[in-house]
Amino acid sequence: MATSKNSSNGKKNSGKDGSGATIWATDPGDLLLVGPTFDLSSLDRAATPGWTGDDDAADAFRLQRGELLSEMQERLFAQARAGGGTRSVLLVVQGLDTAGKGGIIRHVAGLMDPQGLALRSFGAPTAEELRHHYLWRVRRSLPTPGKVGIFDRSHYEDVLVVRVNHLADVDWDKRFDEINRFEKQVVDGGTVIVKVALMVSREEQGLRLMERLDRPNKNWKFNPGDVDTRSKWDDYQAAYQVMLVNTSTHYAPWHVIPADNKWYARVAVTELLAQALASLELTWPTVPWQVEDQKRRLAATMDPATLVKAAESAATEAEEVHEETAAHADDVREVNELAAVDANGGASPEVAWGDDVAQEDTVAATAEGDQPASGGQPAPAAEAQSGGKGKKKDRKKGKSGKK
Ligand code: ATP
Repeated sequence: MATSKNSSNGKKNSGKDGSGATIWATDPGDLLLVGPTFDLSSLDRAATPGWTGDDDAADAFRLQRGELLSEMQERLFAQARAGGGTRSVLLVVQGLDTAGKGGIIRHVAGLMDPQGLALRSFGAPTAEELRHHYLWRVRRSLPTPGKVGIFDRSHYEDVLVVRVNHLADVDWDKRFDEINRFEKQVVDGGTVIVKVALMVSREEQGLRLMERLDRPNKNWKFNPGDVDTRSKWDDYQAAYQVMLVNTSTHYAPWHVIPADNKWYARVAVTELLAQALASLELTWPTVPWQVEDQKRRLAATMDPATLVKAAESAATEAEEVHEETAAHADDVREVNELAAVDANGGASPEVAWGDDVAQEDTVAATAEGDQPASGGQPAPAAEAQSGGKGKKKDRKKGKSGKK
């Protein structure tokens, strides 16, 4: 098991480099957050908001955070397996071709134990999926308790590619409301949703596509359809803009990640994921049996020499766990502290959420089962709920208290 021992060695593994200088000057969770005034057209896609180190520092820091991610994921898994835990995390990764979705999955999700992950890629719907409502395949792919789910593309394709290519006659506002209600249900069910949109510049996309053609070992990654999609660049940007501002809610906010620098996108998403897991305040589960009873039973099956060995290592094991637990608590505290740091170096900025997103507190199940996928209008029961509107607010637990 990977553990976070750095802190116990006196070496900070969060927000600081070896010399104690701050690397994350500002919480990327705040800097990259999409609010109602968000303007995609003014995003500098080569920027590295909040990061004061270089690319090597980012890679090193990401690996350090990986130790923490790994332990938090194991606790999440253990809680569900042995402690009846119901929590899970879902990372939704959106982005145009070459934006780096695959890299995020390899370099961020890859920091964790594959046994605790549930990866799902969403391509064009199959014949069977097309017979159902567009959320049908998404519901079936949600992470079960204890898992970190990763969506490589998602239901957001149903307001992006479907919209740009006019694949269905849809009331987009209703569809946004429907997605918001769906995600509210998922969050209420115990899942923390982290949504990241990787935004690469047009120039960088051109270069990355050309590289796929120039390098024989990358030809397989190229799809002639990528050029068709690229030719609709402006339409996609417009679809992303309206999607982002309409579906960034306090319970499932969007973070837009400038992605021309792959190293930045990876370290930023790592931090967002670490914040999501840290917010769960995960502990190791307690077991429903007596440890001492089980020790006695096990000892009865062991020979005396082996029992002496076990007794010798017992104290060390306990001490190690004690240190690891303290180090973990330190690391989690640091992640949470960074999450409380604001873009202006003081209080977190007010996120002026708009009024245009449905914010029902109580959400009934949407009756989506019989609706066709890409052409799917919201089902009647779902449509009936779309009236409730309200103010969005900062979703981060306890955040306002830290302002
Ligand atoms: P990627 O481009 O994500 O690396 P890929 O090129 O290997 O993946 P697939 O994963 O098979 O292709 O499918 C991705 C394609 O499926 C994208 O072009 C995406 O727009 C499309 N797609 C995803 N969801 C839908 C949908 N609901 N309706 C139509 N097309 C969709």
